[in-house]
Amino acid sequence: MKAILIRQTGGPEVMTVSDVPIPEPKAGEALVKVRASGVNFIDVYYREGRYKAALPFIDGQEGAGVVEQVGDHPDTRTSHVPGIPGAGVTDFKPGDRVAWCNVLGSYAEYAVVPAEKLVRVPGRMDLRLAAAVMLQGMTAHYLVYSTYALKVGDTALVHAAAGGVGLLLTQMASQMGARVIATVSTEEKEKLAREAGAAAVIRYTEADFEAETKRLTGGRGVDVVYDSVGKTTFEKSLRCLRPRGMMALFGGSSGAVPPFDLIELSKMGSLYVTRPTLKDYTATRAELEWRAGKILDAVKTGRLKVRMEYSYPLAEAAQAHRELEARKTTGKLLLEMEG
Ligand code: NDP
Repeated sequence: MKAILIRQTGGPEVMTVSDVPIPEPKAGEALVKVRASGVNFIDVYYREGRYKAALPFIDGQEGAGVVEQVGDHPDTRTSHVPGIPGAGVTDFKPGDRVAWCNVLGSYAEYAVVPAEKLVRVPGRMDLRLAAAVMLQGMTAHYLVYSTYALKVGDTALVHAAAGGVGLLLTQMASQMGARVIATVSTEEKEKLAREAGAAAVIRYTEADFEAETKRLTGGRGVDVVYDSVGKTTFEKSLRCLRPRGMMALFGGSSGAVPPFDLIELSKMGSLYVTRPTLKDYTATRAELEWRAGKILDAVKTGRLKVRMEYSYPLAEAAQAHRELEARKTTGKLLLEMEG
């Protein structure tokens, strides 16, 4: 099969197409013929070696497709959470339409996925759409429902609001009755953020987003900042918060946040800071099914719109990474497999 096999970490040029054997599913696993694989910023971190995987590895950790084969062992019902059962291979059979995330190896024509990480794709939903929303949709979901549970009337500052997570987060937060102040870098992105429901948009590459946020909140500050940009936004974002407000730092698209002295949080108003990650918000089978079910349903009914303008054949994975890193993309990036 064709796959983007990373033999050494580095720039996008390390992402060439290789011919590799189709992997064999073991007990508790399924072999899936991949229809589409989602491209996420975390794939860049793995490619660069910022997040570690044993070499060589196939990049990508999100996809949707059709189960081709299941591990021939009986149902193991294993789970990575001790004492809590996962899904077993008997829950899935060849021909089932499935989606998953948080499993390395989706930039390929076939992927082996633990059954406990698979969810069913409902009805006749386009598999590409399912691949597009698993990781970013569930991320937006946990941020607004669990990390800082938004209430009607809250104000949230959402950075990179026209990105993959950003557009979904902005839609969900505004549909929940929160006022979203969005940041973006271009006019096109501003338009998309407004369409997604942002009440105000700041071009943070031109204007001082701290001063603008203070002005837009009458000096009070926002209840929560959802910050995926990191290095270039973190400290200013803290200054945008109201006393006892919450900073949800969930990414570092501009780089990692440098070490920070916690005493600053008391000076800025007894602030809360968390660095959440999707794995911990889908740690049980029940939580994964709940979040994935909510997102797939919202997409199916059209409540949540997914922008999928950036689609590439598998062989152009390197180009997808280049464009994502250069801030040229909006919404979701997908790699589509032939056939
Ligand atoms: P995006 O589509 O949001 O792309 C990144 C965006 O970040 C860019 O389009 C750009 O928007 C903005 N940005 C600002 N500064 C930079 C910079 N120096 N270089 C590149 N981009 C920059 O990507 P994703 O939706 O895939 O991911 C967004 C972030 O969320 C990532 O940091 C990712 O790691 C994180 N994430 C975290 C998860 C978690 O559970 N913790 C799960 C999923 C994603 P603009 O041009 O408008 O500034």
